[in-house]
Amino acid sequence: MPDQMTSVFGSDQAPHDLFARSRAEHAGAVANLQPLKSDYLCPHCEHPVMIFPGRPGFTCQGNSSHHWEDMEELKRLNPKQVAVAQRTVKQAGHVDVTVQIPGALVEQLNARYGKKLGATLAAVLRNLADEESLMVPSSDKAQIGIWLGAKIANSGELKGLVFNLMQMKNQVQAELTAVRTAVQELDDKGKNYVERRLKEMLRG
Ligand SMILES: [Zn+2]
Repeated sequence: MPDQMTSVFGSDQAPHDLFARSRAEHAGAVANLQPLKSDYLCPHCEHPVMIFPGRPGFTCQGNSSHHWEDMEELKRLNPKQVAVAQRTVKQAGHVDVTVQIPGALVEQLNARYGKKLGATLAAVLRNLADEESLMVPSSDKAQIGIWLGAKIANSGELKGLVFNLMQMKNQVQAELTAVRTAVQELDDKGKNYVERRLKEMLRG
């Protein structure tokens, strides 16, 4: 639903439902229209700018002589916009969770994730619930990065680096086995030679 519509109707609920409910409540009566709040504050006195039924255009709630015929006219005066709380589309079966965290942390998180903060937190919580998942603190990540000789941006990169290490280890193991076999063969040759010479000397 467009933001404009959400702010006018004050909820994520489809306006259709509101109209249907209103019609049922006011069946047969003259519609009891309520003024609608716009997203703007009066550029003169900072009261909310409203849309009053029966009066076209935009009107200040604090002073009805503060009036604008259309949005363009109002916007030319650079009205302050109402801080609109971040709205997220609610998914079926999802619930809101409230946690207390330091205000500075919220600012940090907002600066880093912006609009994606909600979805990011949900993903992190999903990981927390999965007892097999692993969270790596930055100090451990830095140490692993030093050992692997690479900067690790995410778990996919870490997986790739560990895979490379595993392949290297398999390769080294195969080479070591080949060297051991070669040494064993040389050793056997030497022993066989000495034994043969001894037998010859004893016979002679
Ligand atoms: Zn005003």
